[in-house]
Amino acid sequence: MAGRPVKRVVIAGGGTAGWCVAAMLAKAVGPLVTITLVESDDIGTVGVGESTIPTARRFHDLLGIEEREFVRATQASFKLGISFENWTRDGESYFHSFGTVGRRTWVADFQHMWLEARAMGVAGDIAEYSLETQAALAMKFAAGGDAGLNYAYHLDATAYGQFLRRFAQPLGVERIEGKIRSVKLDPESGDIAALAMEDGSPVEGDLFIDCTGFRGLLIEQALHTGYEDWTHWLGTDRALAVQTEATGPARPYTRAMAHQAGWQWQIPLQHRVGNGLVYASNHLSDDAALALLTQRLDGAMLTDPRLIRYVSGTRRKSWNRNCVAIGLSSGFVEPLESTSIHLIMIAVTRLAQLFPFDGVNDALRDRYNDLSRRELEAIRDFIVLHYHLNNRQGERFWDACRTMDIPESLAARIALFRDSATAYQANDELFRVDSWVQVMLGQGLVPQGRHGLGRMIGKERLAGSLNGLADGIRNHVARLPEHQQFLDRFASV
Ligand code: FAD
Repeated sequence: MAGRPVKRVVIAGGGTAGWCVAAMLAKAVGPLVTITLVESDDIGTVGVGESTIPTARRFHDLLGIEEREFVRATQASFKLGISFENWTRDGESYFHSFGTVGRRTWVADFQHMWLEARAMGVAGDIAEYSLETQAALAMKFAAGGDAGLNYAYHLDATAYGQFLRRFAQPLGVERIEGKIRSVKLDPESGDIAALAMEDGSPVEGDLFIDCTGFRGLLIEQALHTGYEDWTHWLGTDRALAVQTEATGPARPYTRAMAHQAGWQWQIPLQHRVGNGLVYASNHLSDDAALALLTQRLDGAMLTDPRLIRYVSGTRRKSWNRNCVAIGLSSGFVEPLESTSIHLIMIAVTRLAQLFPFDGVNDALRDRYNDLSRRELEAIRDFIVLHYHLNNRQGERFWDACRTMDIPESLAARIALFRDSATAYQANDELFRVDSWVQVMLGQGLVPQGRHGLGRMIGKERLAGSLNGLADGIRNHVARLPEHQQFLDRFASV
């Protein structure tokens, strides 16, 4: 049964989640509803979350945001993927790019042919067949159709929130600054009726979006929705974040460097570099983590290192009663593949598509929760994969990751790839075959079998085709400008 028609939307929280939601709802459903966003300057935002994936470009297209304006306002740089360093063992690295790898046929994906060619001794490294990887490693970049690169951004999280606020407010979003003291429930229905502000004033609404971050003020503290803890699969639970000066040209990629009990990020922006150490607190103390981070920084620190605690997992329902949790309030799968902002953008796009104009009803809510759940579980599996397939022998954290029980869904994917080199992207999943292949091979999973297409093509033709591909990519990359040079020009014109 439907609740009352939704005419008033209240967004609690003004971090990246709150302002993404405000911008999209104002654009998509704004004329029919009022939108109010409540945020507290005293509480502030989590202040991290600066590496994105290409969803950000599609999201901006939907909103009609001009790329140059966005890049300037958020001190953004361009991102072609992630360099995973030391994940198999110290000194080894691989690249997970946003692009395609090689060329697939309707019969078989590229990795089957590549594996055959490798067995015949006529293939180079798999990375030679990815344009984005080669451009990234050569520090080259250009945006636009001719360049042919699939890319995302590194952005300043605080500046991004302000940028989206400047976009959303002229579309009619009302902003209230102040602390929410409590959440008032309707005594009859149990739905949320209003937020009570510290000054005593109420903010009433029909639909509430909880963007209050890890605290989940509405979805958890008021509605007690429950949290599913995934720490047994994703064992890191803390991060130390610090900003540093840049020491050289901005790399067009994020670095994710494994260490004894987690990994370190490096995210280059125009005006600084974002750094962080992600770790498992039962394997590394905060003091040892701080020492490790400071010892591994390239540039001088611009801020004091900040400790952030989290529990990887998911809220049992993202949408409960008349409250939809978006952002960290809905759960958090650690930041290894920069998926959180993507999940925010997809969540609010989905909400716009399933918007309960005529009142919240079970069918809409179930559909939303089902889609969100499936997407998140596939992302979780993809991230667990990086930890599980490591070869960092003799380090307690990594030994435990290698030997832990993994989700059945992931075990099945690994077995499929190990036996037959087959990878797949199920409906609505974020990561494509190219992503699964790059990471599985990168983490050292060598398939035992493969499709016979490569054998049918034969050694000579296979070698010719792979050489042609790699040459084409090399020539293309040679014509691209340096990323830093492109960025300077793009941001200044
Ligand atoms: P927050 O930023 O915490 O915002 C919460 C808002 O709620 C604030 O405006 C606050 O003022 C308001 N609020 C809270 N309580 C009250 C109250 N009582 N009254 C009024 N207002 C209140 N994501 C990526 O996509 N890429 C990354 O590289 C990445 N790296 C990350 C690294 C780490 C270590 C962590 C922890 C997260 C990372 N994320 C990343 C996730 C990303 O930071 C978040 O998804 C994103 O910032 C959204 O946060 P949020 O808006 O949900 O919460």
